[in-house]
Amino acid sequence: MPRGLRVKKDIYERARKEMVASQIAARGIRDERVLRAMETVPRHLFVEEGLYAQAYSDFPLPIGWKQTISQPYMVALMSEALELKGDERVLEIGTGSGYQTAVLSLLAAKVFSIERISALAASARRVLDELHCSNVLIRVGDGTLGWPDQAPFDAIIVTAATPEIPGTLVRQLREGGRMVIPVGNEKVQELTLVTRTRAGFITEPLGGCRFVKLVGKHGFKEEDRR
Ligand code: SAH
Repeated sequence: MPRGLRVKKDIYERARKEMVASQIAARGIRDERVLRAMETVPRHLFVEEGLYAQAYSDFPLPIGWKQTISQPYMVALMSEALELKGDERVLEIGTGSGYQTAVLSLLAAKVFSIERISALAASARRVLDELHCSNVLIRVGDGTLGWPDQAPFDAIIVTAATPEIPGTLVRQLREGGRMVIPVGNEKVQELTLVTRTRAGFITEPLGGCRFVKLVGKHGFKEEDRR
């Protein structure tokens, strides 16, 4: 599988390096592959042009349809927690802008990403194609069901909040596999690492976070106000 993105020179190179140094490395992210990937992916291309200048700032940004591109540090923290070495098959739920997807494409062998809103899936696909990202498959649908035909996965990343850990997803993780998922109510969640072992599942809290809702069969209902 040919890997890597074809990134043109752009005026945000310094902003990207600065983002990685001051928001990510300075806060304790050590995985060199994650740091390099985030120095490489042109984050501004994943937001609308009017927001380019803010794309490397320390906060999430709107991407339309009441959804957001996650804060850079959150992308780094979740990516690092998966401990990817390069040969994994990863399932992502909540493609959104496709930015986290692009970062994962540099860290793993193959990324399977599911997005509920077809317009977001289409624009993520467009940007990833522009970057010649060839190891990502995107599908429109309810990610709380996972992607059974492609299971099991070495890692699963859920970039929207769930009231509980969906059993359907955990069952699509291979033994030894890792999943990161924000678990909580609509306002505040605990970023949770789930590891599948022979004996069962281990969960570890990684800190507080705030994501938009995962809406689906095993997530929130559309108008849920939990
Ligand atoms: N990683 C993305 C985050 C986008 S926000 C980024 O940084 O751009 C979370 C995304 O999850 C939204 O695009 C939302 O539409 C999507 N989502 C919510 N429920 C979903 C579900 N059941 N299946 C797939 N995607 C879902």
